[in-house]
Amino acid sequence: MMIWPRPKDPDSARQVDRALEIARQLCRIGYPSYLIGGAVRDSILEIPTLDVDICTSCPADIIRESLPEAKPWGPRRYSVFRVVTELGEIEIAHFRKELDYDGRHCVIQLVDNFEEDVHRRDFTVNAIAVNPDTLEVIDLVGGFADISARVIRAIGEPAIRFKEDRLRMLRAVRFAAKLGFRMENATLSAITLEGSGIKSLSAERIRNELSAIVSGPHPGRGMLIAHELGLWEHLFPERADDPQSRGWERKLSTAERAAQAGLDKTVMWALFLLPAGEPEEEDILAVADAIRRLKFPKRAGQRILELCKAVLYAKNFADIPLRIAIEIADAPYLESLRELVYIRDPNDDFETELARRFPMLDKPPFLTGEALKKAIAGIAGNEVRRRLIALRGAELSGKIRSAEEARAFLADKPRHHQRTRL
Ligand code: ATP
Ligand code: MG
Repeated sequence: MMIWPRPKDPDSARQVDRALEIARQLCRIGYPSYLIGGAVRDSILEIPTLDVDICTSCPADIIRESLPEAKPWGPRRYSVFRVVTELGEIEIAHFRKELDYDGRHCVIQLVDNFEEDVHRRDFTVNAIAVNPDTLEVIDLVGGFADISARVIRAIGEPAIRFKEDRLRMLRAVRFAAKLGFRMENATLSAITLEGSGIKSLSAERIRNELSAIVSGPHPGRGMLIAHELGLWEHLFPERADDPQSRGWERKLSTAERAAQAGLDKTVMWALFLLPAGEPEEEDILAVADAIRRLKFPKRAGQRILELCKAVLYAKNFADIPLRIAIEIADAPYLESLRELVYIRDPNDDFETELARRFPMLDKPPFLTGEALKKAIAGIAGNEVRRRLIALRGAELSGKIRSAEEARAFLADKPRHHQRTRL
């Protein structure tokens, strides 16, 4: 009998204790329940873990009665509940088996049998259960041995499991990248054979799984594994020649460094979608294609695309038109852009050029709101935009130092602005 090692870090321990309490409560009222999945796996590996999965035989109406803090999650017939704590999510799902697939969707059936639920899971390392009363490890599929050997192994016949749900191939990449595990041989061969099937998945499922890789601890490793398994070309047809290019190694190491530096998701996606070297116009078109294909929510997609475009401009910041330079200097993504440019090439001269062109970068405009309205009141309509741009340029470059000077500058004749070289 093996006893599960509770997590050592205080947050994970607190979260797991809460989940154990819930599972015990369900057991007490007569429904076998276990911790299972990522939290059990990660604690064995001493990795912090804040999302905890519970599987149970407890029917939905009883959960609703006895666990008011658990909120229904997803389609009703799946009988999944979530308890959201300040640390993460505790998910409570009824034992189930999967009946039928078309590789995209599956029809599930709730069952009373714990063993059936274990065998429908994807990988052995994800199917280790823990008895909440005794903390005894229940390992029906050899998951513990695979954790020790550091392997990702599909449960059952890999080719069948990947045909059932093709997302599992991407999940395999995610876990191998995150945990630094290798792929067991049969699992690996099956992915190599079935890889093109990924294209039939919905854009949303692919994007969510990729997002987890992109914002995970080892995105560069994820790219490498996806390439070695032959998945990269299906995931990013726009960037299919990346692995053949000289910049590929650099792209991988940049992504690893960026993850270590904790750069945000938008920056990480930009790194994934841009080539390692200097982007060209056509690379930005390819980024736009990928964003469309992966059906990003509008705002998120726009943010990634804007950032990638800005990299193109940042590369010759000294020479781009004032209008665009100002747009970048005042953009909400400026901090992300600086991080992105720096992580891609610490010797890039963007920072130098930015400081040279706009020494007063952090200064907000002198005139805003009513004061600004008043100042432009006397200017011809077709002139306003041009003068405001010139004014902002003069502010950022330190040529104007007060609201008074700003007003005078706006009121000045247009010729003056045309000659302003910044
Ligand atoms: P993470 O650390 O990312 O939360 P996880 O292993 O908990 O990893 P989840 O996506 O939270 O992954 O899923 C919880 C569990 O549900 C998995 O460990 C696995 O047992 C099972 N599971 C999830 N998705 C699938 C799938 N597509 N096919 C089979 N089993 C799955
Ligand atoms: Mg999980």
